[in-house]
Amino acid sequence: MGVRLPGRAGPGKLAKMSALAPPIAPVDLLGVPVHPLTLAEAVAHLAEAIARRRPTTVVSLNGALLMRVLRDPQVRDAVRGATLVIPDGIGVLLAARILGVPVRRRVAGVDLAETLCAAVAPRRGRVFLLGAAPGVADAAAAQLRQRCPGLEVAGTAHGFFPPEDEPALLARIRRAAPDILLVAFGAPRQEDWMRRYGASLSVPVTMGVGGTLDVLAGRTGRAPRWVQAAGLEWLYRMVREPWRWSVVKTIPPLFLIALRERFRGGRGGQARRGETPGTEPGGRRNENRSEHPAEDISEKEVRAATE
Ligand code: UDP
Repeated sequence: MGVRLPGRAGPGKLAKMSALAPPIAPVDLLGVPVHPLTLAEAVAHLAEAIARRRPTTVVSLNGALLMRVLRDPQVRDAVRGATLVIPDGIGVLLAARILGVPVRRRVAGVDLAETLCAAVAPRRGRVFLLGAAPGVADAAAAQLRQRCPGLEVAGTAHGFFPPEDEPALLARIRRAAPDILLVAFGAPRQEDWMRRYGASLSVPVTMGVGGTLDVLAGRTGRAPRWVQAAGLEWLYRMVREPWRWSVVKTIPPLFLIALRERFRGGRGGQARRGETPGTEPGGRRNENRSEHPAEDISEKEVRAATE
């Protein structure tokens, strides 16, 4: 599988793109700030973060993770703490559509990670691959080196280490001084890890990438393009890895929650009308609503939609 550069974010355009990166305005989706960027725009922002050595954390938000955000305050804090939240999943796009929130395009985390590596390679950009089973990060590194001439792999480490090894791992990452750290522990562990350690690592781009290293290493395949375009990559993954059903089945309640929010007054749709969450039309503060709609959705409501 060659590196795909689907978003027109070719390597030679890095400097130009980072100079052109427009300001990012997140939209509010059920209390989660989501950045409705194209792949090329996301690469441009991350390239700029690398050029300026500005620590940036990236979360790829899919429907399952959004449901975790609604259920679990710790996951909510971890996702809200990220600099960039990329809409990665048809579940997120559908929830946004129900609520009238302008998130139209999916940016797959695996595409973003690959494209960013390809974009920094000509300048000898450095990437550290952290996570997946022993041997997978090394295999992914070998593939990346081959496909992105110039890319330096600053280090690799698997994702099945005991907690007592964490300080040594963090020290290793700091010493390696990568431009990009791909964290592949699966959601929401990787988001929690980034929240705890992201800021202390002085790495310009730290990104949670789920199963990306398995894909890069050739251990799991991506769905064919037409399946991705049809919004059915989740189905493809589920057929090949039936254990994913336990994750996929958490997503339909998201649509019930989104529908209910819409008919209640569209708490997730405030950004569409240019309002701040927690205010009513005209800017009046609504005392009954939190600034963060996810906090207004009680556990009872999420449970009711899930059962
Ligand atoms: N993983 C890990 N440490 C763990 C648990 C999982 O490194 O303690 C890795 C696992 O080997 C896999 C990745 O995390 O490479 C999770 O991939 P998955 O596709 O399940 O993540 P998703 O994209 O669904 O969040």
